[in-house]
Amino acid sequence: MKVIVVGAGLAGVEIVNVLNKAGVKVLLYEMRPVRMTPAHKTPYFGELVCSNSLKSTEITDASGLLKEEMKRLGSIIIHVAIKTSVPAGKALAVNRNEFAIGITRIIESMKNVEIVRSEIREIPDERPCVIASGPLTSDDLAESIRRFLGEDNLYFFDAISPIIDGETIDYSKGFWASRYDPNSKDYFNIPLNEEEYNRFYNELMKAEVVEYKEFEKGVKYFEGCMPIEELARRGRDTLLFGPMKPVGLIDPRTGKEPFAVVQLRREDREGRMFNIVGFQTKMKWPEQERVFRLIPGLENAEFLRYGGIHRNTYINSPKVLNATLSTKKDPLLFFAGQITGVEGYLESGATGIIAGVNAARIVKGLDPVVPPAETMIGSLINYIVNANPRDFQPMNANFGLLPPLEVKVRGKMERRKLLAERALKVLEEWMMENNLEFLR
Ligand SMILES: Cc1cc2nc3c(=O)[nH]c(=O)nc-3n(C[C@H](O)[C@H](O)[C@H](O)COP(=O)(O)OP(=O)(O)OC[C@H]3O[C@@H](n4cnc5c(N)ncnc54)[C@H](O)[C@@H]3O)c2cc1C
Repeated sequence: MKVIVVGAGLAGVEIVNVLNKAGVKVLLYEMRPVRMTPAHKTPYFGELVCSNSLKSTEITDASGLLKEEMKRLGSIIIHVAIKTSVPAGKALAVNRNEFAIGITRIIESMKNVEIVRSEIREIPDERPCVIASGPLTSDDLAESIRRFLGEDNLYFFDAISPIIDGETIDYSKGFWASRYDPNSKDYFNIPLNEEEYNRFYNELMKAEVVEYKEFEKGVKYFEGCMPIEELARRGRDTLLFGPMKPVGLIDPRTGKEPFAVVQLRREDREGRMFNIVGFQTKMKWPEQERVFRLIPGLENAEFLRYGGIHRNTYINSPKVLNATLSTKKDPLLFFAGQITGVEGYLESGATGIIAGVNAARIVKGLDPVVPPAETMIGSLINYIVNANPRDFQPMNANFGLLPPLEVKVRGKMERRKLLAERALKVLEEWMMENNLEFLR
């Protein structure tokens, strides 16, 4: 039995690497160079389309912990990244060409892997099959995925609002209430007076934004996905009728409707992460910090995920995927990489490892496995399959995803250190229990 893999990007190469190590035959389809995506420039596998950095190597940083977990799971990305690294302080950055060529050579030399350079236009009929065609999946395949999963379960753009660490919000500056339900306290509402609003508005208008890529120009947004700064450019009062409208929100401390309101919505049940509702933005990251910290109560806010708007093909994973990364509709069809709604090179690669493990287990007649939620990999997957399907937005690795420690620990770094140590211990146990030592 062969496993079909579509796409040799960051996720695809990890899938193939796992299957090869498991002694499972693979048929890998990659459309480049026959057909290029709007962002890739080379025919190589695992091409980094933008930054050459795989971010921090410290395990007290979410990317650092994810890297360490991937390394222990035998990641090809990490293996080649270390070999092709360039000096970048505490980050792992690579020579992008050497990195992609290095990965391509290794995959080409694998005895279990057959490579076909051609575009797949329909979800293949053969099983098991893993789709890892990425954020720039070709149009025909995207259409086939949409038909298979259902009309509403494939998106072509993300419009992400920033996510704030719940522990860094000053809750004395707002009140809990819901606009439409007097009995609900689901939102944390931050009132702004006219002076505070004007200060925020003026700085928003001055903020630097990220340039649109050539293939993103001319994008027509749905009104609800409009970047906040673009909406604001229509006039000083626009936000007061949009994401900052105060209607229906009476501040219990004054008994009045404030001039403007910023609403924060829980991203997880425990309230460790909060989304700033309707604040999707193209502002540069430091600008997001500068401008959004002008909002009362967010002066010391830490950003777990910055806002952004990208061309991005991704599926509604909370509705259509199992935690094993197989589809609910067909347990022998898997998805991996950015198309599942994770965001980032490493995150994409990490889901590739898990999809690869499970596709290999299917071939060997074993039950698929789910990585523990205490690990960064497991928490990411846990998030994408359990998030709210009505408002599903891509997610990168961050400490807010991990279940809290059983004891309260003061000090962010100490807490992160303990969370990381727990993650690595639990990962090792999980690998032992499921005979995954062969990956190392
Ligand atoms: C413009 C852009 C910039 C980004 N910059 C960063 C960044 O700086 N840092 C970061 O961490 N993340 C970044 N990302 C997000 C993400 O991490 C990367 O896109 C990452 O490459 C995703 O990995 P993947 O394996 O899911 O998809 P990809 O790496 O894109 O791999 C998918 C592969 O599938 C192939 N393919 C597509 N359709 C078909 C088909 N029909 N048949 C056969 N093959 C097909 C593609 O050619 C490609 O090789 C960026 C994304 C984009 C779009």
